[in-house]
Order: sequence, then C-alpha cells, then structure tokens
Amino acid sequence: MTENERKELADLLYPNLEHDIAYYESRYPERDLPEGAMVTRYAPSPTGSVHLGNLLSAFADMVYARQSKGSFYLRIEDTDQKRMIEGGIENITGVLHDFDILPNEGFSFGGIYDPYIQSERTEIYQTYIKDLIIRGLAYPCFMTEEEIQNIREEQEINKTKIGIYGVYAVDRDLSLDEVKERIANGQEYVIRLKSPGDANKEIEVVDCIKGKMKFPEHNVDTVLLKKDGTPTYHFAHAIDDHLMHTTHVIRGDEWVSSLPLHHQLFEILGFEPVKYAHIAPITIKDQETGNIRKISKRKDPWFGVKYYDENGIPIEALHLYLATITNTNFEEWYLNNPDKDIFDFEFSFDKQAIGGTSFDEAKLVNLCKTYFSRKSGEEVFNETHAWALKHDPEYAKLLDENKDDMIKFFSIEKDGPRPRKDISKYSEVREEFSYAIDSLFEKEAYAKFDGDKTYDTDLVLDYVNNVLNLDVENEEWFNSIKEFAAANGYAASPKDYKNNPDAYKGHVGDICEAIRVMITGRLKSPDLFSIMKILGKTRIIDRINLYKKLK
Ligand code: GLU
Repeated sequence: MTENERKELADLLYPNLEHDIAYYESRYPERDLPEGAMVTRYAPSPTGSVHLGNLLSAFADMVYARQSKGSFYLRIEDTDQKRMIEGGIENITGVLHDFDILPNEGFSFGGIYDPYIQSERTEIYQTYIKDLIIRGLAYPCFMTEEEIQNIREEQEINKTKIGIYGVYAVDRDLSLDEVKERIANGQEYVIRLKSPGDANKEIEVVDCIKGKMKFPEHNVDTVLLKKDGTPTYHFAHAIDDHLMHTTHVIRGDEWVSSLPLHHQLFEILGFEPVKYAHIAPITIKDQETGNIRKISKRKDPWFGVKYYDENGIPIEALHLYLATITNTNFEEWYLNNPDKDIFDFEFSFDKQAIGGTSFDEAKLVNLCKTYFSRKSGEEVFNETHAWALKHDPEYAKLLDENKDDMIKFFSIEKDGPRPRKDISKYSEVREEFSYAIDSLFEKEAYAKFDGDKTYDTDLVLDYVNNVLNLDVENEEWFNSIKEFAAANGYAASPKDYKNNPDAYKGHVGDICEAIRVMITGRLKSPDLFSIMKILGKTRIIDRINLYKKLK
C-alpha cells in the first residue's frame, strides 16, 4: 500500500477519533519532579484475588517512588473483559487501603494523567494505532481462530517458533481494495503489529534487577488491538506508561519474555524507553516433595492476602517482611536500627534477589514478634482492639470492658533492652492473655494445663492472705517469698535445694509455679509479680479457690 492508501485505510478504520497524537502528548505533560524521582505504578488486572506477589510489587512501587520523591500510581488494566471478576476492582483498592500500600495518584486516588483505567482509554490507543497504520507499522488482520490454530499446529509439528510472522502473516500485505472488501463483507479483524524485527539480530536490555539481558529481536506480528477495538496488555502498557510518564516498570518476571516486544513497541512509537525491574517470584519449599516451587494459591495459606488480615498479622510487620523480600540487606538493618522507620532505609534494585525469594514463615513470625515487642502496651491494645472489631467482636467488647487492665498486661516486660517477645499476631492475643480477663479465664481456667502435678492450695492461700504485699517493688517481693519458702520447709533458692534435696519439700520456684498455675492456668507466663499486681488480692484468692474446686 502506498502512504496515501494507508491513510485512506486508517481513516476508514478510525473515522471518528476526536484527537490526534499531538493532543495527547500535550494533554499528558512531563512531570515536574526532582532529578532522579521514580514514577512507578501498580497495574493490576482485576481478574483474580490479590496475592502476596501482587502486594510485593505494589510495596516495591511505593517505597521506590516515595524515597525518590516521585509518584506511585494505581492503574487498572481491565483490557481482558472476559476474565474480569465481579468486585475485582473494589477488591484491589480495598486491599491497598487495608494494607496501607497507598498510591498517591491513580484510579480512585485522582491525578491529571487520568483516566487511570484502561477501558476508558480506548480512543487514546486507537489514536496511536491509527498513526502506526499510516506509517505502515500496523495492519488489520482477518485471520480466523481456526486458521491461527492450524498454523500453530503446523508450527508445533515443525518445531518452529509459534506465532504470526513471515510467511504465516498472510494479511500483512493485503491491498487496500482487499481490506475494503473484507470489511464490507463484515469480516472481523484485529490490528497486528507489522514487526520490523529480524530474529537473527540481537537486542540488549538492561533490567534494573536482573542486569544485562540479550534477546533475539522481536519479529512476530503480535496483536495490538483485539476484535472489539480494545488493546492487548502489551500495547496498552506502552501507551500508558509513556503518557503517564512512568520511569520504572516494576512487575513480575513472568513478563521478561515480552521484553523484546515491549522494547520494539517503544522504539516504533518513538517513546523514550522506560526502565524495567522484574521481580523474581516468591518461592517455597514444597512440604511433600521438598522441591522449591512458586508459592501457590492451592497449596499455601500465605498466598492470598486474606490470610494476613484474618490472622491479624500487623500491617507494619507485613511491610517489614515485604521489605526483607525486596532488599536482602533490609532485615539486618532493621534489627540494628530499632528506632527507625522502614522509609529510613534506602531501598535499591542492586539488593533485590535475582532468583526466587523463598517464603519463610519463621522469619515472618519472628519479625512480627519483634514488632510487637517494640510496641507499647497501649499500642498493642489499640491495634488488637481494631483487629478484633472486625474479626472477633466479642473479644473487642471484652477488651473495651477491661481496657485499663489489658494495657497493663500488655505492658509487662516491655522495658529494658530485651523486651518480651510473645505474640506474633492479633489472633493470638485472646489465647495468650486469656488469664487477663476473668470471664475468659473462668471458661477455660485449667483446661489447657494438663500437668499432672497438684499444688498445695492451702500453702498458697496462706501466703497470699498473710504475707503477700502487692505494694512493693519486685525485689522486695521476691525476698519475702523466699523467706516464706524457708519458713515452710522449702529451700530459698533452687541451688540450696539441689545441694540437699532431702532436706526440703521443694524450693521457692515451686511455690511461684504453684501460684502461676493457679492464677494463669499455665506453667509459663510473663513476670508473675506484675500479673499479681494487676489482678489484685481478691481476684488472686478467687482463682486459688477456683483451682481448689476444679482440681
Ligand atoms: N496487568 C498486568 C498484570 O496484572 C500488569 C503487569 C505490569 O505491571 O505491567 O499482570
């Protein structure tokens, strides 16, 4: 086709476009940002529920943009209308809010590069396609599914590259009359790239994470617009990332193989190339086979983000975990910088794992424990309460009713260089602190304590009634219980007892154990005297009597 014919064709296919390319180029101006600012985007397709891998890439988008004083925006890629799920878009925005990975711009967040949803940008894509058609870089292709399938089978048999290219691209050089005739006959068509690539030549792409990569040039006439006139991911991403002035496309590495195509699209469209950062998948060691595999929806509870919400993994702790996956040196930094915020850390693509990063539940739990240990009693209360309102309203009510006590319980052993590490999720608090609320304690009391030892309730009652003074410091209390032990045939220290076991009934630790079991229903608890102080004498005595009754 001559250039004039191509123009005629382009007008025939797109007679009513409101604007031209120049309009869009000025409608979406360069961003006014400081040198080195990164513009990143989270560009999900609402075709399934959000998973940990999505959260990881959105998190990376957020930290890189924020630390470079750039912009992080949300773009909904809803070009595959057939695979859209109901509520998919609301789910995406809901997750970003729930997990506090908030874009500063984008779909539902606003901004001048709108609309940030691809289904509302069809005209823009068509405007650029029209130009490619005029320039002889795209063409309508009328091949049927069946024809394409036959070619595919032939290519599989011949073990040649799959796709519509070279001799297989039968509609590449149709004449204008042929195209007109087919359109007049109502034949459906897609718009394909007229790829200028030569597979015998190589291109080099530098990925921010993976480094230099070489590929054969793209030479397939890939579909750019589908039969319904909407774009494929490849084309839409090139147009949008260009017009929205993305600097870094951070995405899953399942897209690496599309790089030659994307590289070519940017080139023929005359766009300044974006930088790509392909994130390795999160892997896991398969329980059954022992092999390393991608984390999976079917097999791993940690895959879907619902898990983190339902179990009450604190959002900030999950951010810490995502940060450890994002940069291999983050965890050490965090442990050495207890007073700093995630955003004080300098994230860098160089410190991003190239191969898969394995999901490590123990690490997540440990980070969560460290997180909780660094929170004040009041913060633990507020956060647990907020979680319980959504997931365990009965417990939220109990927390409200016992607020002062609960904050005190949550504050035990928080001071000092090694704060207590007990809980790792909000969902554990109810059980872990069940002794803190009378009604919960009474319900379960000693049910979980299956020690077969019985303890001397009379001795403990005698101690509580006649000796225990709750208004003293820990050390004084401990001295007094040692004295009580000695006066009642117990050694004042485990060492004395060990040296001469026959001379004693036990040692002071055994009396403490008896008290602990009676008032908490367990053998291990935070500092005993602190618990006693919060409970007060009456409740301590009630519990000893309960123990007497039940055991
Ligand atoms: N819509 C694509 C997906 O959900 C996004 C890939 C990208 O970030 O460019 O897989």
